[in-house]
This record gives sequence, structure tokens and C-alpha cells, in this order.
Amino acid sequence: MCEKPDLRNMELPELQQMMEHIGEKKFRAEQIYKWIFSGVTDFDDMTNISAELRAKLKENTVITQPELLRVQKSEADGTQKYLFGFSDGNAVETVFMKYKYGNSVCVSSQAGCRMGCRFCASGIDGLRRNLTAGEIISEVLAAERESGEKINHVVVMGTGEPFDNYGNVAKFIRLLNSPKGFGLSMRNITVSTCGLIPGIEKFARDFPQANLAISLHAPNDEIRNTMMPVNGSYPMKPLLEACRAYTEKTSRRITFEYTLVSGKNDTKEAARELARRLSGMLCHVNLIPLNAVKETGLKGTDRKNAEAFMKVLESKGIPATIRRELGSDIDAACGQLRLAESRKIHPAK
Ligand code: SAH
Repeated sequence: MCEKPDLRNMELPELQQMMEHIGEKKFRAEQIYKWIFSGVTDFDDMTNISAELRAKLKENTVITQPELLRVQKSEADGTQKYLFGFSDGNAVETVFMKYKYGNSVCVSSQAGCRMGCRFCASGIDGLRRNLTAGEIISEVLAAERESGEKINHVVVMGTGEPFDNYGNVAKFIRLLNSPKGFGLSMRNITVSTCGLIPGIEKFARDFPQANLAISLHAPNDEIRNTMMPVNGSYPMKPLLEACRAYTEKTSRRITFEYTLVSGKNDTKEAARELARRLSGMLCHVNLIPLNAVKETGLKGTDRKNAEAFMKVLESKGIPATIRRELGSDIDAACGQLRLAESRKIHPAK
């Protein structure tokens, strides 16, 4: 990776320190910071900065700009899926989605993933590396550039496990939320985790106003163990205790993601058990139709069964919805585009 500091990876106090260090006035930092979050990638577009300072910045810093390697656009609903490449050859997926209430972008937090969930394409080739906060920010800015639309909501739900890269993801959230930076409200930021308990605890302390989603996918350890190796380290009982503690501390409703896999976790018995275990918690269950990934050999549940599962949860007082399938005409489950492309660059292990 490039050794010059990436301006997109700097919080305002860091930029201010850098300005002082090079003998510039502190307020210059704010001007540069503003430019960075307006999506500028060429130093010469920073029109209120002197030519001399622009030259210094050019020489000593970079502005990470991922290259658009591929794009898929849904004719049906406006979803756009981008494959962005970084200078070291790693590529990540970023998805732009349109909702009634605004535009949302789903960002990746790592190139690859080491959690190894059985149904997921992102972990098939393991973890390549963590993304920096600046690289994750660059996904948001590049999605704005490519879509031509303002982003109102950011979900950290693409490739990678955000709490396996906590420090960089936390910095990304601070940059995104910073009033003088991107200025996105905490309420419009959602992080999804496979259940790393120490991360959940830190997140409750650091970002009590942001949203948390947990990829649960099973009602008990027996089933969860067969789907998610992480359950060996963080089983359901302590995980759900950490979730309860999170809701009590933050008063925020937690979302449980539950991907329905035919014959595995989609029975009425599973729904009843799930309802029992979530009973009384400030939560919501988001049922996700499985995107079939050919490498996993798993099959999704049909719509009728998904509805029956949802009804059981609702009858037990657990609010549940079936996630709207966006971009279904542009194929590719999360991680598949990247997997196909990265196998061209790095042969599969
Ligand atoms: N590591 C984080 C965020 C990335 S995965 C997490 O586990 O939450 C984002 C969501 O997509 C998770 O709920 C994940 O379980 C789900 N997912 C992964 N592969 C999928 C597939 N093939 N079909 C449906 N959902 C999938």
C-alpha cells in the first residue's frame, strides 16, 4: 500500500495537526476536510486552497480513489452493484439501493472475510485484508459519484465482518457522522455483525445512537453451529445476553437477520424456538430469502414457507418482515461478483 497518508482516512483533528506541522493555518484543515467529503479526488479542484498548499498536499498525501471495475444495474428497482478495485489489486463490492425514504449504500468492511459462514460467498476465499476507514469512506463517495445521487443511509453489511476490523470501522463511522465531514446522522448508520460479542459491547459504548443488526440465522446452537463457525466461540446464550444488554443500554431496537435455508432452519418448530428465545427483547426479525451461491449447495425457502415462518413469529409477539429482494434481476448474492473477479486475479486456494 501507498505510504503517503490518505486524506480520506484522516479525522479533522489529525488534519489540523498536519496543517500545524507544515506551518499552515489550522482553518485550512476544515476547508480540505470539506472538499474531501464533497467527493473531490483532484487536489486542483480545491479552489479555495493556495497553489502552494495544493502542491504540498499533492507531494505528501493521497486521496484514495477506487477504480470502478464492474457495475450491474437493475432495471427493475434501480439497485446498482459496483465492484471497486484498490491499488493493491484487491476488490470489494458496494451496493446502491433506492428506498421510498431515501438512498442507501451497503459497504464492505474487509476484502474477503474469515468468518466462514457456510451459505455466504464472501468467505469462500478467506480474508485478504482489512479495509481502512478511508477506503470504506471512498466506497460511499464513489457510490454517490457513480449513482449521481445523495446517500441518506449507510449499512455496513457488504463483504467482511465489521467487528473483526473494529478500529477502522469505528473511525469510518466517526468520519461519516462528523458534522464538518459527511454529516450523516448516527440514526442512519447500521452495522451488521455475525455476533462477535466484544464488538457488540464496544459498539454499545461507542455508538449508542447507531443501529445494530445481528446475523443470527438459527434458533439454537445445534443449527447455528452447522451454519456459522463463529458460534463455536460465541454461542447463542451469551450472544443473546449481549444483545439484551445492548438494547437495555441503548434503548435501540436490535435487528436479527435470519436467512431461510430450506430444510435447515425454516421449520415452524425453528420459528417457535426462535420466538421463545427472543421473547421480551426490543427487537425485530428480518427474514432474508437465501441467495443461492453455487459453491455452497444450499437452497432457499420458498415464499409460502417464509410467510408461514413470519406468521409464527408474529403470533408470538416478535415483529418480523421478509426482506424485499432488491436487485434480483442482477443476480449475484453478496460477495459473488467479487469472488468471480478476485479468482481471475488471485487463483482460488
Ligand atoms: N459479517 C457481517 C456483515 C456481512 S454479511 C454479518 O455477518 O452480519 C451481511 C448479511 O448477508 C448477513 O446477514 C449474512 O448472513 C447475509 N448473507 C450472506 N450470504 C448470504 C446469502 N447467500 N443469502 C442471503 N443472505 C446472505
